[in-house]
Amino acid sequence: MPTYEYQAADRQQSCDHCRARFEVRQSMHDQPLRKCPHCGGPVVRMISRCGISTRPSEKSLLSDKNLKAKGFTKLVNEGGGKFRKVT
Ligand SMILES: [Zn+2]
Repeated sequence: MPTYEYQAADRQQSCDHCRARFEVRQSMHDQPLRKCPHCGGPVVRMISRCGISTRPSEKSLLSDKNLKAKGFTKLVNEGGGKFRKVT
């Protein structure tokens, strides 16, 4: 099962657990977490290997095309400490 990274969406509503990134092992078919399992504060899923972002604005901002145009290199975490270069 892939591991997804989450981080607090709102630092005002976060705990030590979600202020730093935390990883959750989930099935690809599971719904993304919306809340921190510790404090219940809102969390967002960080870029995962399937490249899905939960926030549309972030999705367009971090699109491969945009990143490439800005001269960024994007690495996708494939799990197990392996990264794949996509731009
Ligand atoms: Zn929390």
